[in-house]
Amino acid sequence: KVLVRLNKYLSMCGVASRRKADQLILEGRVKVNGLVVKELGWKIDPEKDTVEVDGKVVKPPRFMYIALYKPCCYLTALGKSKDGKRTIEELLKDVPVRVYPAGRLDYNAEGLLILTNDGELANRIMHPRYKLPKTYQVLVKGKVSQKTLEEMKKGAVLEDGFAKPVSVRLIRYEGKNSLLEIVFTEGRKHIVKRFTAHFGHKVLRLKRTAIGPIKLGKLSPGKWRELSKEEVHMLK
Ligand code: URA
Repeated sequence: KVLVRLNKYLSMCGVASRRKADQLILEGRVKVNGLVVKELGWKIDPEKDTVEVDGKVVKPPRFMYIALYKPCCYLTALGKSKDGKRTIEELLKDVPVRVYPAGRLDYNAEGLLILTNDGELANRIMHPRYKLPKTYQVLVKGKVSQKTLEEMKKGAVLEDGFAKPVSVRLIRYEGKNSLLEIVFTEGRKHIVKRFTAHFGHKVLRLKRTAIGPIKLGKLSPGKWRELSKEEVHMLK
């Protein structure tokens, strides 16, 4: 069962910031199932409980847009996995509506996932037609030479066809390995891994740092935040 702190719920419903919501609670202006709740840590079940502020029922917005930092070793899937692997569902416990990942990251990849219950926007993010650039920081084995970087920029024929990144650059060498930034507008399965492997450089670590205008920024692994109105607008 998914329980959400009352102040968080109120802020997600657009009533007030969490701090202001706490004030409303202390002032006795918030009711849960008809009863005033003045306890700040109170948790509610968004699917069952009715929350009122000043006598008016508050509901989560119809659409929610979430940026999640998927850590390594989580499946981009909801529900339980059959083989006991962790899924991102457990990181979304306090999101009051059911949201779905718009795109995926491999089990051992990390970084930005956008989740929403707005199917139209999800489609815009995922459909190749919209050519939304996805930015990856990729640690690959070996030192990628200037020559190879130039070759990478030209693209490569992979087993399922041609693949060309929007850009590739060397961020720095890390010991015997190389940290690259690669931008692709497409989302074929394992595209980054297959692309660098084509040039003889195996991926050691893969992190998505941006999806179009949305940046991972300072989000910590395993944490989520709501996209701002401006960010949602930029995706449309
Ligand atoms: N490319 C990959 O190889 N894996 C991902 O998870 C995303 C892009």
